[in-house]
Amino acid sequence: MRASRKASVFIDKLIDTAKQLVNSFNPVHPELGVSSAHGKDVHVPTPVNRTLVQILRSLEQGAEKVELVPRIIEQLVQTRPVVPARAATSGFAGAPASGPRQKWTNQIANQVVEPLQLFYPRSLNDPADPQSIAAILSRARTTGCAVKAAGSGHSYSDVATTPDFLINTHGYRRVASTQSPLTGQLSPSALRGPLQLSLGPINWPGYDPEKNHALIEMEAGITIHDLNQELQRRNLGLMNMGGYDGQTIIGATSTSTHGSGITLPPFPDMVRSLVLATTGRWNGPTVGGKEPTDGVYFYRIEPKDGITDPAKYSDPLIQLIQDDDCFHAAICSMGCFGVIYSVVFEVMQLYWLEENRSETTLDKLMSELQAKPNNPGHFPDVLQNTRNYEVIIHPYPMRNGKVVDMEPNAPPETYYPYFKCLVTKRNIVPRPDDNLPDYILGRSGHRNVFAQFLSLFQVSFELVVALVNLYPAIIPFTIDTAMDNLVDDKYINYSFDIYNLGLNQDAGFAAEVGLSLEDDQGNYTPRYFKEAIDRIHRLAQRARQQGEQYQTSPFSLRFVKASNALLSMMNGRNTAMIEMDMLTGTYAGSEVMYRYETSMYPIGGRPHWGLDFDNITGSNNLLGKMYPTLDRWVGVYRQFNALGTFNSSFTNRLGFTVLE
Ligand SMILES: Cc1cc2nc3c(=O)[nH]c(=O)nc-3n(C[C@H](O)[C@H](O)[C@H](O)COP(=O)(O)OP(=O)(O)OC[C@H]3O[C@@H](n4cnc5c(N)ncnc54)[C@H](O)[C@@H]3O)c2cc1C
Repeated sequence: MRASRKASVFIDKLIDTAKQLVNSFNPVHPELGVSSAHGKDVHVPTPVNRTLVQILRSLEQGAEKVELVPRIIEQLVQTRPVVPARAATSGFAGAPASGPRQKWTNQIANQVVEPLQLFYPRSLNDPADPQSIAAILSRARTTGCAVKAAGSGHSYSDVATTPDFLINTHGYRRVASTQSPLTGQLSPSALRGPLQLSLGPINWPGYDPEKNHALIEMEAGITIHDLNQELQRRNLGLMNMGGYDGQTIIGATSTSTHGSGITLPPFPDMVRSLVLATTGRWNGPTVGGKEPTDGVYFYRIEPKDGITDPAKYSDPLIQLIQDDDCFHAAICSMGCFGVIYSVVFEVMQLYWLEENRSETTLDKLMSELQAKPNNPGHFPDVLQNTRNYEVIIHPYPMRNGKVVDMEPNAPPETYYPYFKCLVTKRNIVPRPDDNLPDYILGRSGHRNVFAQFLSLFQVSFELVVALVNLYPAIIPFTIDTAMDNLVDDKYINYSFDIYNLGLNQDAGFAAEVGLSLEDDQGNYTPRYFKEAIDRIHRLAQRARQQGEQYQTSPFSLRFVKASNALLSMMNGRNTAMIEMDMLTGTYAGSEVMYRYETSMYPIGGRPHWGLDFDNITGSNNLLGKMYPTLDRWVGVYRQFNALGTFNSSFTNRLGFTVLE
């Protein structure tokens, strides 16, 4: 049998590869050796090496090359690339894996990418860092590759993925200090004031956290957990946060992560300044810095009246932009504008919270949440007087431990007394006396509903999931008991310990949607979240009755102040966020979520950029209807992404992709 010329080149390369592997074979344990081929190390099982030796010997004895091809291929596919220690990354691990052939997965591994290169930068532009952000962008520019920065991979949507150059940002995570300054670090003398910039601990004159505010600058890859530790050392605390702290500060900001409290906006609105590295030139005015020669721009972005005094700004590298649209687009830009290097947050004096959790029923809850026309903005007293107010709501109406079947034609309110709710209220308290008993101060325990749910069974997570999938009818009762176990009249701790619910990051997943809290006059109304609650309850009943599909968790209702970020889910309106949670592995979990999420679009629902399973698309101008500010965001995006460097499956899905 003769091979064509092209085929024979291929066959020679294959034989050459086999020879390289055999010649460099180095047994490292009885079953496995390490060999090198084409400059790469691979694991070679010992029997594979033995068979390759035999094949090559038969070649020397005159066997036809072409006939050996299938046998060689059979052996080669049993080898595996050597993966450097901790290189097979999950987004959360923050492992220093880099280079080609590195798989990246998000936290629940529903997003898996095998990008051209995974990078692990440690600096903005340090020449000693071959993977600096500047070096990556420069390489992307000359090769036409796309770039995306990922945080801790805690988004379930494709918002942090690219098939080209994916950046693990955990390598740059310092907080500004005088000893080891960040690149382009702001100096107190360049600020307009009045807030002081923390370059170390702050000594406050007294305890007044709501009034004592400060600024702090940090690199973008720091996790909220690590930031909280540093803030505590400096006598500072975040103004608010969500129920978890594994995200990076800019990962959380970029998708408009939020906590609860009607006076407290989401993460983007705590940002006062940020440094962006990008390949698109800003067409508006800039101050200081320098025009690049290699097409990689560094911008400090602030609103028009930002914290930096332009007259005193003189950084030699980073150009200052003070522009409202640019800033309000960049603070929630889902990695589409470039790579954010550092950020300045407004924070407050370190503070303590007291938490109270009590049970009620939906009828009582809704009466507590009625508009109060005599209050400013018509806010009900509980929202006005409670710093952090949030609720979890049972998905099924229960009476005497059994699910009640709702008559489809009966008004939803008929069944409100049967829906259990758990209300969490938190307010700032003075620094507590260290002698308070453990059950009040600093107590740990299962403060989230998943942990409660799982702890009831006393068996492994996998067994619980298998059990509830086999006997789904036990789910409503289990949720009921888990909610009961969360009741707690008093718990005091540092704010960050109270906010963080100690979520087991792999136990569950969620979809979340924001609904307006405003009527046509801009006053508070419960109308939209009430309708959303009714829709969830109807869908939960239909899925249970028609297909034995169950929701394995209560859903939550949180209240967030309107955001200035152009594409924040809370943009321009005070917002009720409804989060639907599910135990990982629940039968039909994502189908149930899909029904909930899409049922809220017609009532003005905006899905959370991170907690959406790629359901939202740019079709039918859906996004334009959700966000009246979309065009302004896109206007800024088109400048920074003029070359298409930050195109991704996310921009494709939403119809933003820039085509050159
Ligand atoms: C257990 C858990 C609890 C959660 N709790 C809450 C909650 O209470 N409230 C809430 O609102 N959300 C919550 N979320 C959602 C989560 O906060 C968001 O999805 C958040 O965006 C994840 O941050 P991350 O660091 O993992 O970033 P990733 O998910 O990795 O990335 C998010 C976005 O940030 C961009 N990005 C990251 N770093 C950079 C950078 N340096 N430069 C430019 N772009 C960058 C990415 O490109 C991407 O678009 C939770 C998620 C989980 C898994």
